[in-house]
Amino acid sequence: MRPSTPTDRIYLDHAATTPLCREAREAMLPWLTDSYGNPSSLHREGRHAKDAIDSARETVSKALGCLFAEVLFTSGGTEAANLAIVGAALQYRDAGRDTILLGASEHHCVLHTEAILSALGYRVTLVPVDREARLDRDALDSLVDERVLLVSCMHANNELGTINPIREIADRVHRVGALLHCDAVQTFHAPGQGWTAQDLDADILTASGHKIYGPKGIGAIYIRAGVKLKPLIAGGGQERDVRGGTENVAAIAGFAAAVQLDSPDPGPIRAARDRFVELLRPHGAMESVAGYARVLPGHAHVRFAEIDAESMLIVLDRMGLSASSGSACSSGSIEPSHVLLACGYSDLESRMGLRFTFGRGASVELAAQAAERVIRAVEQIRGSRSSRR
Ligand code: PLP
Repeated sequence: MRPSTPTDRIYLDHAATTPLCREAREAMLPWLTDSYGNPSSLHREGRHAKDAIDSARETVSKALGCLFAEVLFTSGGTEAANLAIVGAALQYRDAGRDTILLGASEHHCVLHTEAILSALGYRVTLVPVDREARLDRDALDSLVDERVLLVSCMHANNELGTINPIREIADRVHRVGALLHCDAVQTFHAPGQGWTAQDLDADILTASGHKIYGPKGIGAIYIRAGVKLKPLIAGGGQERDVRGGTENVAAIAGFAAAVQLDSPDPGPIRAARDRFVELLRPHGAMESVAGYARVLPGHAHVRFAEIDAESMLIVLDRMGLSASSGSACSSGSIEPSHVLLACGYSDLESRMGLRFTFGRGASVELAAQAAERVIRAVEQIRGSRSSRR
């Protein structure tokens, strides 16, 4: 095993963000230097910028298997999800539907729309999830009726990596004439995820640039032709009058360049993840999923008895391993994971979840080095506790 010094870092937090790929950086550079036109301007510089956005829209719509006009750019996955949910709530206020259903283990960019929706007079109900954060379809069936305007269900959960059967959920949602929004941030252009908008059959899909080796601060929303959303950012008519503001041409170009690349080969990523969990098992790692068939290839989510995520992540960071708990950090301490709570874990257990996410460049050798550091961290924490007793 190689020595683990802080200069020999291992990054296992690809679900949080990925490094910017060379192709994206190169595609962005002209728009940060000589090509500075405003895409809304009629002169040559403006038309040049507009062409770059059109070409990026073409790339993203092809990747989604949808029409050019069905894709809009936003400032990221968070804004896209807000636009999907709140934009629909505003647009269809007089449609006689007063309820919106959100999956209980959705990302906060979905869950925290609740305050806005309530202020608009909607009833917001959380749809329970199972022990692995997949939407409980029986519960959905009992909650979805003609009063429901929209259901929001993520494609893959960002903490556990578990994948929802979106098409099946879409069928149940469409039966009562409701709309389905799907947060596809963790699966759009992700390793081993070859799907199109038609495959999923959601009415609105949202995606982000920085999870796929593109830049931060850029995202996309697919809005099925015929579905209308009210803008949340009023402005100069950009993005088909649905999202005002001068477009971030550099980020849009970088996003499209990342989409144009093949997504990473899931084979080595899955092999690394599998080896990693295999090495951790004899050391008491409790896995959050029973099997990895319907889980993203790079996700490993484990707990170690009586070791909170915060202590582990601090020790691991010192050992040169970057991972996460998947839960928000506020006032210097890690909150219990709302995802694990929704899965039925206790408050204590929900503070123990550790998420390791492999990405491009993963190998079984890297997995072994990472596992060695995790095992050492567990022993160190357990050792320091028993010596204090
Ligand atoms: N949805 C999911 C499932 C995510 O994992 C994230 C990123 O953490 C987001 C939405 C937010 O995307 P962005 O960081 O582009 O706002």
